[in-house]
Amino acid sequence: MRENNLKINFNPGPAALPYVVLQEASEAILNYNNTGLSILSIPHRGKLFTDILEESKQLVKELCGIGDDYEVLWMQGGGRMQFCMVPMNFLSQGQIAAYVDSGYWSADAIAHANYYGDVKVLSSSQQDNYRHLPAWPSGIPAGTAYLHFTTNNTIYGTQWKDIPSCTVPLIADMSSDIFSMRRKYTNCDLFYAVAQKNIGPAGATLVVVKKDLLHKVNPGLPPMLSYAGHAKAGSVLNTPPVFAIYTSLLTLRWTKEKGIDNIESENKTKASLLYEEIERNDLFVCNVHEADRSTMNVCFGAANKTLEKKFIDYCEQRNITGIEGHRSVGAFRVSLYNAITVADVLHLVAVMQEFENLNKS
Ligand code: PMP
Repeated sequence: MRENNLKINFNPGPAALPYVVLQEASEAILNYNNTGLSILSIPHRGKLFTDILEESKQLVKELCGIGDDYEVLWMQGGGRMQFCMVPMNFLSQGQIAAYVDSGYWSADAIAHANYYGDVKVLSSSQQDNYRHLPAWPSGIPAGTAYLHFTTNNTIYGTQWKDIPSCTVPLIADMSSDIFSMRRKYTNCDLFYAVAQKNIGPAGATLVVVKKDLLHKVNPGLPPMLSYAGHAKAGSVLNTPPVFAIYTSLLTLRWTKEKGIDNIESENKTKASLLYEEIERNDLFVCNVHEADRSTMNVCFGAANKTLEKKFIDYCEQRNITGIEGHRSVGAFRVSLYNAITVADVLHLVAVMQEFENLNKS
C-alpha cells in the first residue's frame, strides 16, 4: 500500500483522481468551506454554488485557451447523451451529419446519430480493427451540417494529437483526453467530455460550444434537449449534479496549478515508459500503430493468451488494479489519465519485469 492506502488505479473511468482532490472533496462533504453546510446540501441556485459554477467555467476557458465567444456548460447524461444531442441540435432535413469512425465510441456516436437523419462516415479504420487512426477526411460533402470525431479512442488506444481545422462546424468528443496536452481547442466549434476521466466524478458532462453555433440549434426542441436552452439557463435549467461539479472544480484548480505543459510532458513520459517496456518485454505485445498510440489509454496484450488472467491477478497482488481491457476487446488497457503519476507507471513497469522473470520459458 502507498502512504495514502489507495491502490494504483489504472481504471478507464470512473478513474483515479488526484489524492488532494479526494481529500478536499471529502472535507467539503462534512463542512463546505466552514459554512456549516455539507456540499451535498447546498442550494443549486444560491451564491455558494453560483460561485462554484462561475469559477469552473472560467478555469475551463483558461485551460483550453478559449475566449468569451464560447459558452461552457455543465450537463448530465454522459457521452451517450451528447451522441443524441449533437444531431438533435444541429442536423436538419436535407443535411448530412459527417463522422470520422476511429473506434468504439465514434461508432456509437454514429449509431446514435442514425436515429436523427442522414449520416455519412467520411473515413473509418474499422476494417483494420481500429489499430490505427483513419485518414482525416480530404473533402467535406456539400450540405454537411457538422463533422464529428473522437480525439482519443479509449478502447483501442489511438489518439489524434492535433485538431485539424475544418470548413464545417467541427465537433469533438474529448472524453478521454481533455486537459491532457496543449491543443488547438479553438479549431472546434463544440467539444464535450464526460467528467469521469480527467475532470472529476461521473455524473457531470462538460460541453464547450461556440456562441455562434448556438444560433444554429434546431428550433422547437424542449430546453432540456437544447444546447441553447442550457446556455440560456446558465447550466441550472434543472438541478445539476452539485457535488460532481464541485469536485470537478477541485480537479480544474489542481490542473491549473500543475500547468498543462507539465501535465503534457508527464503524460508523454508515462506513456513512453510503458510502451517501451511492452516493446522490450517478450511477454507483451502492442498492435496499435506506433504513430497513433494514445498517451491516455495504453492497449496491449500478452504474447501468450493464457498468461493474461495470470498477469491481471499478479498485478492485483502487487497493489495494481484496473488493467483489464474493455469487455469488447479483452487483453489489457492501462489508463494513464492526468492523476496517474510517473511513480505509478514505474511501479507497473517493475511488476511487468518481475512477471517476466517468473514466467521465463
Ligand atoms: N466517449 C468516449 C471517448 C468514452 O471513452 C466514453 C466512455 N468511456 C463515452 C463516450 C461514453 O460515456 P458514457 O458512459 O458517459 O455514456
